Amino acid sequence: MSAVKPPLLGCIADDFTGATDLASILVRGGMRTVQTIGIPDAALADTLDADAVVIALKSRTSPAAEAVRESLEALEWLRQRGCSQFFFKYCSTFDSTPAGNIGPVTDALLQALGSDFTIACPAFPENGRTLYRGHLFVQDGLLSESGMEHHPLTPMKDANLVRVLSQQTPSPVGLVRYDAVAQGAAAVGSRFDELRGEGVRIAIADALSDADLLTLGEACASLTLVTGGSGVAQGLPANFKRLGTLRQVDAAHMDSVEGRAVVLAGSASRATNAQVAEWMHAGNAAFHIDPLAIAEGRDVVGDAVAFAEQHEPALIYSTGNPDAVRQAQAELGVERAGALVEEALGNIARRLFDKGFRHFVIAGGETSGAVVKALDVKALRIGRMIDPGVPLTLSLGGEAPLLLTLKSGNFGAQDFFSKALRFMQGATA
Ligand code: ADP
Repeated sequence: MSAVKPPLLGCIADDFTGATDLASILVRGGMRTVQTIGIPDAALADTLDADAVVIALKSRTSPAAEAVRESLEALEWLRQRGCSQFFFKYCSTFDSTPAGNIGPVTDALLQALGSDFTIACPAFPENGRTLYRGHLFVQDGLLSESGMEHHPLTPMKDANLVRVLSQQTPSPVGLVRYDAVAQGAAAVGSRFDELRGEGVRIAIADALSDADLLTLGEACASLTLVTGGSGVAQGLPANFKRLGTLRQVDAAHMDSVEGRAVVLAGSASRATNAQVAEWMHAGNAAFHIDPLAIAEGRDVVGDAVAFAEQHEPALIYSTGNPDAVRQAQAELGVERAGALVEEALGNIARRLFDKGFRHFVIAGGETSGAVVKALDVKALRIGRMIDPGVPLTLSLGGEAPLLLTLKSGNFGAQDFFSKALRFMQGATA
């Protein structure tokens, strides 16, 4: 039995960056939140002191049976920790195919929880995703005309989510129309009862604004399972505050961690290239690693580690020049070039950790995955937002606590690297 207070809200997210997004929203709402990387092992449970836990899966495009199995395993872990409410997080563009996974996972979670009803609400007005009469809009157009109809893995050709979800589940799908949402939480609650009476198990819920999401959140207080994008989770912390189960604290607070700092960039995205250029333009130290040199057997890792030790804080980066990237890909193949860089950055991180480095700024989604694995990080406490979508995090479960920022390639302002390092040193400017 764990000595710490059980978390209140247990969340299952179908991808990593979506999980971080949700976790940041919960922190903003006043819940101390930990994000785990995959389903955590039992050892983590005893150190896990949080109001909300977000388990990040990689199940968005897995076969439905696999997504269901992993989500149920995550649910079981969260139930054993004592969570009282559960949230299934997916993309605000409802990324899925007729085979799933939103419908099958929701059905399986409802069944495992012995629940008969939940909502599905991907709306996220802050990011231009609104839902009206069951139709999802992206900015000013329908989802099916937003470019998402051409998505390689999950083409969204129909904006009517009642219809989309109906294809993914044998359960009757209903609609909580905007008319009810506009009247407030009590009207939404009555609509839930009506839909339940009609045998509906999952209801798409309209929302045009953050105020609507707060109304929905309030109406969902009594639902064991809520599903949606991170937007609708905005309304959940207030329920726990009303119940008196959520203490008023600075949810983003994290203890400082002393140690040396490095920036590792393996992303070739435009925003990262601009950040690399800005870093060098400001006169900071930078070391380029080249997949062709790694493939030739040169000790790129050793050289990079020595550079980072001598020039703190240094940037170790692998891109910046699109022609060089193309050349490496032509000679080595796209996959091998990528894998060599990821492995090298992982090894560099590990060797720097052994030399006392504790502050890591990482750019690139796949790169982040490789580095976090090399550093044996199992979970992250989510702190203050550095730039939209990129919070400061504190690692849990590894050999020693680390401060990390894991940035998807295109995120962050041009001066992100130095800003993130300042956050790590305790400054918030
Ligand atoms: P993003 O979040 O921008 O997509 P990722 O880290 O997910 O960034 O993906 C970038 C991929 O490109 C990684 O697999 C990385 O190893 C690879 N890569 C980085 N630098 C180079 C390079 N110079 N040549 C070829 N591939 C590279």
